Order: sequence, then C-alpha cells, then structure tokens
Amino acid sequence: MRIAVIGTGYVGLVSGACFSEFGVSTMCVDKDAAKIERLRRGEIPIYEPGLDDLVAKNVKAGRLGFTTDIEHAVPEADAVFIAVGTPSRRGDGHADLSYVYAAAEEIALYLKGYTVIVTKSTVPVGTGREVARIVRRTRPDAEFDVASNPEFLREGSAIGDFMRPDRVVIGTDSDRARAVMRALYRPLFLIETPIVTTSLETAEMIKYAANTFLATKITFINEIADLCEKVGADVHDVAKGIGLDGRIGRKFLHPGPGYGGSCFPKDTLALVRTGQDYGSPLRIVETVVDVNDKRKKAMASRIVEACGGSVKGRTIAVLGVSFKPNTDDMRDAPSLDVIPALQEAGATVRAYDPAGMEEATKLLPGVTWCESAYDALADADAVTILTEWNEFRALDLKRVRELMKAPVMVDLRNVYNPEDMEMAGFSYSCVGRPSRLMLNAVEKVLT
Ligand code: NAD
Repeated sequence: MRIAVIGTGYVGLVSGACFSEFGVSTMCVDKDAAKIERLRRGEIPIYEPGLDDLVAKNVKAGRLGFTTDIEHAVPEADAVFIAVGTPSRRGDGHADLSYVYAAAEEIALYLKGYTVIVTKSTVPVGTGREVARIVRRTRPDAEFDVASNPEFLREGSAIGDFMRPDRVVIGTDSDRARAVMRALYRPLFLIETPIVTTSLETAEMIKYAANTFLATKITFINEIADLCEKVGADVHDVAKGIGLDGRIGRKFLHPGPGYGGSCFPKDTLALVRTGQDYGSPLRIVETVVDVNDKRKKAMASRIVEACGGSVKGRTIAVLGVSFKPNTDDMRDAPSLDVIPALQEAGATVRAYDPAGMEEATKLLPGVTWCESAYDALADADAVTILTEWNEFRALDLKRVRELMKAPVMVDLRNVYNPEDMEMAGFSYSCVGRPSRLMLNAVEKVLT
C-alpha cells in the first residue's frame, strides 16, 4: 500500500516512519523546504528517541521518502494523512484550521483514483465534513472518502506509542475507507490492538475528550498537592492510595508546575470553545484551563519565597526548559512563564536543558545558556528543576552544594526526596510533600 503524509512535524514524521516500518510505502510532505532538505540529508529536525534509526532504516529500504511537492505524493496514495498543526487561533482559543483546510485544497488538486483522506491532526467536531466539502468543491470528479484517525502518541515515547498503542480510533461512514484503514493498521490488528470504529464526529470528539480528561486529572492532583502542603499530607501517598482504585488508575497523578506542551493547553481551550459554540458549556474544563494558567504563573513565586522573599540581584539556576523530558518541544512549556517572571523580579537566570535549548534561545531572551547542569549551578543562589530529565535525577549533591552560593532547591517535579535533601544540607521545597518547614507551618495552624 502507499500513503502520503502531509505535514512532517512530531506527528507526521513519526506516523510516516512507523507506517513505513509496517511495510507501507510512505511519502512525507512538508512545505518547509529547510526541514525536508535536512530529512533528505538524514538529519532529524526534532528530538525524539529512536526516530533517527527508524527513519534511516526505512529510507534505506526505499519505503520512506520526503518531498515538498505534494503532486509527487498524492496521486499514487491509497490514503493521504493530514498531520499539519492546529494551534490555538490567536485571540479566541478556537483551533486554527487554516493549515488543515489549505492542505485539503492542495490534496484535492492531485487526487487520482479512489483515495481516503484522513485527518490525523487534532481537529474539532465537524472538521472532517468540512474537509470533504472542500475537496468536493475543488475537485467535483474526485473519488474519495474522509476518515478521522486521531493520534494519541506522546512526545518522548512516540514510536512505542505508535507501534503499540492502547487503541486505534477510526471514524468514517464509509465501509470502503474503513477497509483501507484496517489494511494500513493490519500489523496492529495482529497484536490485538483494540480498534474503535466510529462515525467521523465521534472520532473527532474522542481525541478532545481524551486530552481534556488527562489535563483534568493532572489539574486535580495539582490542587490536591496544594492542599497536602497546607495540611501536612504527602501527595504521592495520596496518589498511590487513590490510584490503586481501578476506577481512578495510577497514571497522570504526578503533581508539578501545571501542564504545558503542544496539545493539552490548546486542546482544552478548543474544546471549551466548541462547548460554548454549541450552547453546551464544559464548566469543568473551563475551570481546568483557568486553574492551570494561574498555576504556571504562580510557580515563580515559590522560587521567590524560597529565596527569602526576593530574587532581585540573585542568580537562579534552571534545570530543564522543555515542556517534558525526552523532547525539545517548548510549546507552552511552564519555563515560558517561570523564567520571564523571575527575570522581571530582578533575577539572573542560568539554564540548561539536554535538548530544548536551541528552540528555547529564540523564546527566552536574556537567559545565560549553559553547557551542563553543573555549569548552570555555578554561583547560583537557588536552583529549580522545571523538567524531570533523567540526568537531573542523580546529581552529585555535594558538588551541587559546592558550586552554589546557597543550597536552595525548588524541585517543581518532585525528583528528590525531602528527607534526603534536608540531610544533604539543602533548603528544599517541592510540590505537595511535607518538608520540615511545611510541618512547622501546619503545627502553627493546629496550635
Ligand atoms: P508540528 O507543528 O510539529 O508540525 C506540523 C507540520 O506541518 C510543520 O512541519 C508544517 O510546516 C507542516 N505544514 C503545515 N501546513 C502544511 C501544508 N499545507 N503542506 C505541507 N506541510 C504543512 O505539529 P505536530 O506537533 O506534529 O502536530 C500536528 C497535529 O497533530 C496537531 O493537530 C496536533 O494537535 C496533533 N497531535 C500532536 C501530538 C504531539 O505530541 N505533538 C500528539 C497527538 C496529536
């Protein structure tokens, strides 16, 4: 079988490489000529573990190619996947569908023979029908169906997620399109992956419902963490205690500085807007968006507090700036709220991230970018962990203390253990776990 993938970003490139690994002849298209040039040279434009080997292997086998010319990809394809971005529309939070609709028009021009046009981008309910209208209007003679096949991969473990997903969702009204999609996903049928077949609208809704549910779960545990701090409870034990209940589940109950990334912030907001447009408001999701925005903004004040109420003239070391580990993606990362707030409060920021610095340099002016975690710590008055990269999990604490001006750590990812840190001589604060300081405060309230 042959497919074309329009948009060679995090989702398009991973999906294209994985389909080619399944044995499907895949042509990835992007209008960003520099990106395609790099891919043709064998360079991977994003940081995603394992992707370089997978791409190289399938290019070598002649199953995977890259082009800027959509006319070289679409006519031969049994299915064309739209994997372009759907960011928040500036100003109002609706999903910006201009890239999807532009891609639909371009695809229509080159359709030849029966083709399934698949939206893999995260798109609001109704988008698939609109894609079909656009294609029909542009090419009334074209023989095609539209399907929705939302993607659930996580950056940082994207290949494993694509190859062994919890489920595949296929939304279409056409038996013929369903048969093409089943043939493409045949290797996953063989490993008994649940395949959820639905209408177009239902598949589109599933993706938003999944992301907003996960964002809600994170926000819930973040608020429980805040309350734990006030009452002297340990949020990790609470998460374990509730998560062992099969109806709740243990995943996504890790507190932190608020969710960020390329999906949750824009998708929660887009679903809120859809609810409002249809007169069916999602008040829980509206609250989640509001609570999370405020949380990210409030994180800098935890660092200020740990520095005794002011960071003016102080140096703060920041470990990790990407929105999560194992990715270079900076979209809506908490660092984009925390670092400017620290700078505004008069701090100098020294930062290090294993993969995110190239992108972060463009977004965070005035930061001193460092060669390593230890380099960032030099003469710092405090250090904060914003992203839980593995290499920050076992820092040599003696060396950390020696490098820093003052042993103050604000661990917004709960990487370290409060007792260990106190024993190592740090003034340590984290999220939702009692430290001696917190317990003293609780005692004061109780007496
Ligand atoms: P991205 O910004 O990394 O990539 C989009 C690519 O599309 C860019 O390279 C851009 O140049 C290209 N593009 C735009 N218009 C084009 C056109 N007309 N022709 C050819 N190329 C075009 O985006 P992404 O993170 O891969 O996300 C893509 C979609 O997948 C979004 O809807 C997103 O919500 C969804 N999604 C993303 C993830 C994730 O973890 N990143 C996970 C699941 C779903």
